Amino acid sequence: MRAVIPSDDVLAFAELYADAVFSKIPEERYRYYVDGSMNAGYEAARRFSGMSASELAEELGVPIAIEEKSSKIAGVSLRAQTLTENGRTRIIVYRESLDLLAMESAWEDFEALDADTVLNMHLFHELFHVIEEKERAYVSDSLDSVRIWKLFSHERKSRVMRTSEIAAHRFAEQMLSLPWMPNFYDYIYLVRTRKLSEDDMNAFFLRIDKLFEGKNGGKT
Ligand SMILES: [Zn+2]
Repeated sequence: MRAVIPSDDVLAFAELYADAVFSKIPEERYRYYVDGSMNAGYEAARRFSGMSASELAEELGVPIAIEEKSSKIAGVSLRAQTLTENGRTRIIVYRESLDLLAMESAWEDFEALDADTVLNMHLFHELFHVIEEKERAYVSDSLDSVRIWKLFSHERKSRVMRTSEIAAHRFAEQMLSLPWMPNFYDYIYLVRTRKLSEDDMNAFFLRIDKLFEGKNGGKT
């Protein structure tokens, strides 16, 4: 059986699905969060179109450090992160884990990404977060919060943090003209390194595709 290649919307929805407050999002609002965050990433890519990741980093005044070995958080190798300490922001990328991802990035008829593209994909992702921080314009702030609970006139609301992730993926995808949202490479990597079976991955995407498309009403 040919593998399922999920659409970008479904890949975005997979991120939303992993949000800590996903269960509080009304079904008819899935489309709102996916479209809102995808548009934010797309608009940023239009603004900075034609720039390389290093040019954009320079324009934003953020240094990039390349470390050879990956640090691990909870047993998972980090590939990149943005750190702000004492008001100074820097991006750190970890070459070893980026190279591992590049080596395991071929899928179906699509050739593996080269190491540079994998590096730039992660840089653009982090740079998107730097832009959010610098402009104090977080995607998760720009979209409606969800209600966590309501009792009489009291209610508690929470931001949907993963919307920033979706936008950062979209930004990197557009800046590099990737064939799909970068988070798909995480799944490809897991399947190719046998941490996830292909059947389980396909089943997951079919399930969330149904959840997303089945409930948004005005599917176009
Ligand atoms: Zn991120």
